[in-house]
Amino acid sequence: MNIKVSDLDHLKGEPLPFRLTLDADELKRRHQEIRGLTPVEVSGEAAKLGNLYYVKGELKSDVDFVCARCLKPFTRHTAVPFAETFAPAESAEDEDQDSDILPLEGDEIELNPLLQEDFLLAIPAFPLCEEECKGLCPECGVNRNEQACECKHERIDPRLAGLADFFKDSK
Ligand SMILES: [Zn+2]
Ligand SMILES: [Zn+2]
Repeated sequence: MNIKVSDLDHLKGEPLPFRLTLDADELKRRHQEIRGLTPVEVSGEAAKLGNLYYVKGELKSDVDFVCARCLKPFTRHTAVPFAETFAPAESAEDEDQDSDILPLEGDEIELNPLLQEDFLLAIPAFPLCEEECKGLCPECGVNRNEQACECKHERIDPRLAGLADFFKDSK
């Protein structure tokens, strides 16, 4: 979806609300941690203020991940706020490298590529089912969030393990 700059000029600072949906398949392809997601619902508004144009709003989707520690699949409701500022290309000549102001090429603001980037930047590279996820036990592979295991404490000397089996069998 594109927003016509001339529409914003006519509105003289009055915000123009917009709604759109981003394609889920494309986003999934572009981020390896996204295992699935609902179409990304976007609601926002655009306005002209002074010489600058603004768009802001929120992106929403339910995203499926696999926990990087315990490998459990989980779904997270993801809401990403966004805010972008544009200046007409000719007035953005101040060469301010650090500026967050984007140059406005042509007479339309192209929302989709911009919002796709904002969404992908908010996706974790190391998703966790919960902050405190205890992960899998490296010894027995048990999910330590669901089940306690005592591998660490009862780590049997391999030489004694054989002995334990011997006694078990002899019962
Ligand atoms: Zn986990
Ligand atoms: Zn264990």
